[in-house]
Amino acid sequence: MPNPIPVTLLSGFLGSGKTTLLNRLLSHYPHSAVIINEFGATPIDPQLLREHNIAISTLSGGCLCCQVKGSLTPFLKNLRMGWEAKADKPFERIFIETSGVANPEPVLDTLLRERWLAARYRLEGMITTVSAATGAEMLSRFPEAQTQVAWADALVMTQTDLATAEQTEALLAYLQKFAPATPRLQAVNGEIDANAVFAALKPVPYRLKQTLSIPEHSFFSMSLLLEQPIEWARLQRVLEDFLHHHAGQIVRLKGVVYTADDPQPLLVQAAGGLLFAPVRLSPKASDDGRGRLVLITDGENAGLSAVLMDKLKFVY
Ligand SMILES: [Zn+2]
Repeated sequence: MPNPIPVTLLSGFLGSGKTTLLNRLLSHYPHSAVIINEFGATPIDPQLLREHNIAISTLSGGCLCCQVKGSLTPFLKNLRMGWEAKADKPFERIFIETSGVANPEPVLDTLLRERWLAARYRLEGMITTVSAATGAEMLSRFPEAQTQVAWADALVMTQTDLATAEQTEALLAYLQKFAPATPRLQAVNGEIDANAVFAALKPVPYRLKQTLSIPEHSFFSMSLLLEQPIEWARLQRVLEDFLHHHAGQIVRLKGVVYTADDPQPLLVQAAGGLLFAPVRLSPKASDDGRGRLVLITDGENAGLSAVLMDKLKFVY
């Protein structure tokens, strides 16, 4: 079978900076296609990649490790057949960004062992992002985070500027435990040399992968729609208060909101109870002024959504 298409798998726990890294890698390889798997029902990540003129496909509302047979395999088959039919190839490589709660093992297994796919795609490797600020805590709590580190071909440490020395030290101890031989790189303020990342993916003759068992996921998502533009300072206060009181339960918050006094939408993100500084996105004609926030919780969240709805009274 001629011309297997290279595939790079991007993994990393909720809020660890996968999409920021993907942005960097796409600047390096603009002739790419992207498949994004998001756990929440409302996809947010494609908004972050709006600067790139590339094909982005979204598989949302679940995680690839549970849906891999159901949706990823037929999706990749269709993508390849469409690619073969075109004389002018629409892309030369693929990035798959898995959801932050996905166990990468079934995805890797499919790419390497499903015969039809394995002949037409070539797995270049898996890159896993780990946050210096929240990584140790997530690795101590969630087996999903452990498998993402254990199966990585290269680890990219992110958010080192947000981490204390103790947090970074605790993370390094976990990396030593779960992936002692895996190359490690460090992003500085979200910036990293794409060449160095790909150089770290060079195949090695053998590597020990710890297999960790994943019980049923205990993650739930909820989506919040903000029908009208908001005053950011108010929403910020409400979110900070909400995250502070429910830090143990909310593992991730992300979304795009529109403010009353600025045409540029804001990208809003939190992980591990920490609300990051919002990032201004470039305005698009398709922006409809309706904000969307997605929260991922550890455990069911009916009670939490009631609390949040109550707090939102103070935003409008
Ligand atoms: Zn799953």
